[in-house]
Amino acid sequence: MQSLQNLYGFDRGQLEQLFVEQGLQAFRGRQLMKWVYHQGKTDFADMTDLPLRMREWLDDHCHFALPEIEQQQMSTDGTVKWLLRVAKGDLVEMVLIPEKGRNTLCVSSQIGCVLDCSFCSTGKQGFNGNLTAADIVGQMVLANHMLAAKGESVTNVVLMGMGEPLLNFEAVIAATNVMKDDHAFGLSKRRVTISTAGVVPAIDKLREVTDVALAISLHAPNDELRDELVPINRKYPIAQLLRACSEYVEALGPARKLVIEYTLMRGVNDQPRHAQELARLLKALRCKINLIPFNPFPGSGYERPRNKDIEYFQTLLMRNGFTTMVRTTRGEDIDAACGQLVGQVQDRTRRQSRYKAAVAETSPQPVIVQ
Ligand code: SAH
Repeated sequence: MQSLQNLYGFDRGQLEQLFVEQGLQAFRGRQLMKWVYHQGKTDFADMTDLPLRMREWLDDHCHFALPEIEQQQMSTDGTVKWLLRVAKGDLVEMVLIPEKGRNTLCVSSQIGCVLDCSFCSTGKQGFNGNLTAADIVGQMVLANHMLAAKGESVTNVVLMGMGEPLLNFEAVIAATNVMKDDHAFGLSKRRVTISTAGVVPAIDKLREVTDVALAISLHAPNDELRDELVPINRKYPIAQLLRACSEYVEALGPARKLVIEYTLMRGVNDQPRHAQELARLLKALRCKINLIPFNPFPGSGYERPRNKDIEYFQTLLMRNGFTTMVRTTRGEDIDAACGQLVGQVQDRTRRQSRYKAAVAETSPQPVIVQ
């Protein structure tokens, strides 16, 4: 028997097409979305306004399947971390950060990561493939199940968990479409953020297909240092990255800004001269800056800066006119802090070297190694 299609991975356009291919009208796709995302019904038999014949067809060919919750941990500060088993059988993590008036969900987009940024623990695990769009949407569904008990829901999504979202382009676009769709989660485009280490051709492609918020993991004010911290910089250096960024933010319109993420590491990129150089570099870009104090993990070789250095770095950027926030560390006691999403997951390093050989030419298309 052919395997069932997981419809959590279908955005509105794809669902409409599914119905049209079965000889029905496109609006049936929107009806189905409302059953699933507004009424919480995933059993086709309950979808009483769909033609019976279509309900039977759906039952034979499709389903709604969620990742399995392997583990759930709650931090003393309210942050929740889940370890999830996804379609391929691997484990990934997601983190929910409740704050006053908002619930931010940090979702994973890949199983591990191929980019190998020098200070990120995900990179150290290697890579074992892309998540499906259904795996990504499923993370949101699961977090909402938990929040529903409190009468709440996810208000913001950041693709800042494991993986590089722009190397899993099609799935990430479909999943973020579902997050923004009024027939599904209905989040505003400003509340869905894709974070990237700088896959330039994919950023160029992005502005043609979406209008979500974009965060750039910059971490260094010059190519020499960035080459060392974020190796993809050797392929797409800062000038190319900033060109793509300004074109993206221009396409969004005058009211929108980009987010520049800058992880501060003691003695590496946290000095006043780095702040000055960063301010000069970003002068012409419509952006705000998020400073992330480095979250240490065993064997990282980096340290978190002293508080006074973090504060002075922020002051210098603010003096230069940049809105600059320092991200507070959450969920440290459960290893849910930024860049710590590793847990006890298996080593994938051998697979990573195979993957690297396979994508020597980085492409914005999804590349899956079997
Ligand atoms: N690949 C994407 C998204 C995942 S990383 C990207 O690079 O943007 C999400 C954010 O966490 C990035 O800004 C990353 O640089 C930051 N990060 C990774 N490891 C970290 C650590 N140990 N301490 C602080 N921030 C870290």
